[in-house]
Amino acid sequence: MSEIEKVKCLIIGSGPAGYTAAIYAARADMKPVLYQGMEPGGQLTTTNEVENFPGYPDGVTGPEMMIQLEAQAKRFDTDVRFGFISKVDFSGDVHKCWVEDGKEIHAETVIISTGASAKYLGLESEQHYLKMGGGVSACAVCDGFFYRGQEVVIVGAGDSACEEAHYLSKLCTKVTMLVRKDEFRASKIMAERVKNTKNIEILFNTETVEVLGDDNGVTGARVKNNQTGEEKDIPCTGFFVAIGHKPNTDIFKDYIDLDETGYIKYAQPGTSKTNVPGVFVAGDAADKTYRQAITAAGTGCMAALDAERYLASKE
Ligand code: NDP
Repeated sequence: MSEIEKVKCLIIGSGPAGYTAAIYAARADMKPVLYQGMEPGGQLTTTNEVENFPGYPDGVTGPEMMIQLEAQAKRFDTDVRFGFISKVDFSGDVHKCWVEDGKEIHAETVIISTGASAKYLGLESEQHYLKMGGGVSACAVCDGFFYRGQEVVIVGAGDSACEEAHYLSKLCTKVTMLVRKDEFRASKIMAERVKNTKNIEILFNTETVEVLGDDNGVTGARVKNNQTGEEKDIPCTGFFVAIGHKPNTDIFKDYIDLDETGYIKYAQPGTSKTNVPGVFVAGDAADKTYRQAITAAGTGCMAALDAERYLASKE
């Protein structure tokens, strides 16, 4: 059996929350070890251009930004490792974590920054244009700007879909909203706002058959009325998916308090503390409201400062 490694600060996840926590923890001499997880760089690596992160007046691509954040964390000697934590035991004073290869780590503090994953429809054509960076997006606030003056489609019927459809309606000439049932799931006020927006057309009982496109990206969506079976093509250059997110918190559920949708609950509002002393959370794993790179980075900073204070209080 391999030797148990003892660390002061273990950071799980490598989005803007994790790397920002690492920068702060490393500069505070906590010698952080960061495991990058399944998707090194996190959700930003599937974003084309980031134009709303302060400090980048000309914008930056998501992957480029993550390379820079990683470099900044390494500059202060963060031990950045490829691999993911597959199991934890937070029942004792020492926080036990296992890497997927079986290695055991005992951490005085843990910062959970595992993020959330946007749900997609799972259509082959959707995934094709998503990977190509050519017109499929799960974040209107991130990518809507690139479709200003154009026609877009958005799938979903919850509060997120309504909020994003409304956001897009201010930028785009037309927004077609695809709702698979004959009603919204969203709160009444959000649904009403969408219904009352002139350039949003809502198609109820409608599902996506295929995302259409060419070598340059998306050109339309083939949709089907699930009551009549009728199919039609809707021209669009942007295809937005807003059918919810799944926080990556499964491995913590036996120890960390989660809400009914799996997001980590803050033990004390205004801090990054979880219900387990010494375990902190940053970024989308605890945030279903803002979900921005800048808010993730902000909470990453908070988590590192809280972890530092926790260690100081134990000395
Ligand atoms: P929700 O889970 O509330 O809604 C997901 C929506 O996507 C549902 O309408 C669902 O349809 C639809 N959907 C799921 N899978 C598919 C599919 N394969 N094809 C088509 N449609 C699909 O997620 P949200 O992200 O909207 O919201 C998450 C939470 O965050 C909620 O509690 C919400 O209230 C909250 N929120 C609050 C906001 C605010 O108050 N400002 C803003 C954004 C979110 P169906 O209804 O048919 O199941």
